[in-house]
Amino acid sequence: AEEVGGGDKEVVREYFNNSGFQRWKKIYGETDDVNRVQMDIRIGHSKTVENVMKMLTEEGSLKGLTICDAGCGTGALSIPLAKEGAVVSASDISAAMVAEAQMKAREQLVVDGNGGEVSMPNFEVSDLESLKGKYDTVVCLDVLIHYPQNKADAMIAHLASLAENRLILSFAPKTFYYSLLKRVGELFPGPSKATRAYLHAEEDVERALKKAGWKIRKRGLITTQFYFARLVEAVPA
Ligand code: SAM
Repeated sequence: AEEVGGGDKEVVREYFNNSGFQRWKKIYGETDDVNRVQMDIRIGHSKTVENVMKMLTEEGSLKGLTICDAGCGTGALSIPLAKEGAVVSASDISAAMVAEAQMKAREQLVVDGNGGEVSMPNFEVSDLESLKGKYDTVVCLDVLIHYPQNKADAMIAHLASLAENRLILSFAPKTFYYSLLKRVGELFPGPSKATRAYLHAEEDVERALKKAGWKIRKRGLITTQFYFARLVEAVPA
C-alpha cells in the first residue's frame, strides 16, 4: 500500500469508508444528533465553505468554469459550486463519501436536462494523486490534515499541475497546535493509530506552492472553538 506519512493511505481510505464516514457524515450533515464539539466543527467547516464561495465568486461568475473538488467528502462544496453553474469534478478516496455526496447532490440540485445552467457534478472515487486532466480551478479543503509535510509538498505540486488559474487549499495551521489537540482527540479517538492528524505551518505550504510555481493571492482564517482552518488561494506566479 502507498504510504501517507506515518499512517498509510489504505488506513485513511478504510477509516473514511467506515467509522470516519459515519462520524463525518454527521458532522457535515444537518441532523441534530451531534455533540457540542461536533456542532462547533460543523459551524467552522461551513464557514470555510462560505469563505471559499466568496473567494471564488468575487473574481467573477462561475458559470461554465471547470472546478476540481479533490477530496470532496459529502459534497459540502461541490453542491454550492454546481448551483453557481460550475462544471464540477468531485472525487474522494472513499467510495462511501462519494456515494453520500452523489445522493445529496441528487436531492439538492435540480438538474434541467434542456440545456439548463446547473449540471450534476461528475463524481469519481479516486485518491487525489491519481487525478488527471486540467481544470480552471482546483480546490482541496481539509484534506491536508491527512498528509505530513514531507508528503504534502508532492500533493500540493500535483494539485497545482491540474489547475490552470487557481488553487484553493485549506489546512489546520500549526499555530493552533494546543487548541487542536482537543479537536484531534475528538475526531480521531481511541488507542488505535486509525488516522493521524497533521498540522501545517503556513510557511511550509507557501514554500511548496512557490516550488510548484504558484504564489498566494488571498488568505483567510476560520476559527471556532474547536475548528481552525487556514485558507489560501494561489495563482500561477
Ligand atoms: N473536502 C471535504 C469538505 O471540506 O467538506 C471533506 C473534508 S474531510 C475532513 C477529508 C476528506 O478527504 C475525506 O472525505 C477523505 O476520504 C478524503 N481523503 C483523505 N485522503 C485522501 C486522498 N489521498 N485522496 C483523496 N481524498 C482523500
